[in-house]
Amino acid sequence: MNIILIAPPAAGKGTQSELICKKYNLNHLSTGDLLREVTIKDDEVSREIKDLMNKGMLISDDIILKLIENKIKDNDNFVFDGFPRNLNQAISFDTLLNNLNKKIDYVIYLKIDKQTALSRIVDRYVCPKCNSVYNLKDEVKICKNCSEQLIKRKDDNEETFNNRYDVYMNETYPVINYYKEKGILHEIDSSNTPDTIFNEIESIIGELW
Ligand code: AMP
Repeated sequence: MNIILIAPPAAGKGTQSELICKKYNLNHLSTGDLLREVTIKDDEVSREIKDLMNKGMLISDDIILKLIENKIKDNDNFVFDGFPRNLNQAISFDTLLNNLNKKIDYVIYLKIDKQTALSRIVDRYVCPKCNSVYNLKDEVKICKNCSEQLIKRKDDNEETFNNRYDVYMNETYPVINYYKEKGILHEIDSSNTPDTIFNEIESIIGELW
């Protein structure tokens, strides 16, 4: 089974991806996480990618599609988190899936308004080791899975959030219609709690997998 999660920044893609992967035994493929791994290196390409990410801009489709192809060619059963981010990626992804004899079963669109998403960004912390996402105010900033000190992502600030939201509206939003026309899109209100959102996802996927 392959699932795509589409959502504006801070709608809960990371959290829901983890829950779906755990329950249905799928592989979490976050292009944002893959890019953050790439940018640990200190070469020219990594610096360019880091700079674009810090501004909330999209990385070139060629780089992204290469990363995706390398990950999926010898493996199956993915939750795609943060990909495809524009129409060209969605169309190229279909060609790649066809060539590999694979398909997407569900596209889940986590819908949230801009203000709610922004308020989540302010309290969002991530584990640098396992990439788990937390929403915390005064609680201790330690990862429950690996006891690492949690950090704030460099792009989780109001200015970059505004850019990321604009990029989402201009580039990613049309992808929703693309999948709606294919009849595989499911829309969920993502202003609810993570448990409520996940219950809705479970009712879409069902218990058969
Ligand atoms: P995310 O972790 O999904 O919020 O992504 C963080 C940043 O990584 C985005 O703001 C983009 O700069 C970059 N990024 C992630 N996925 C993609 C993608 N599919 N295409 C282009 N850029 C991406």
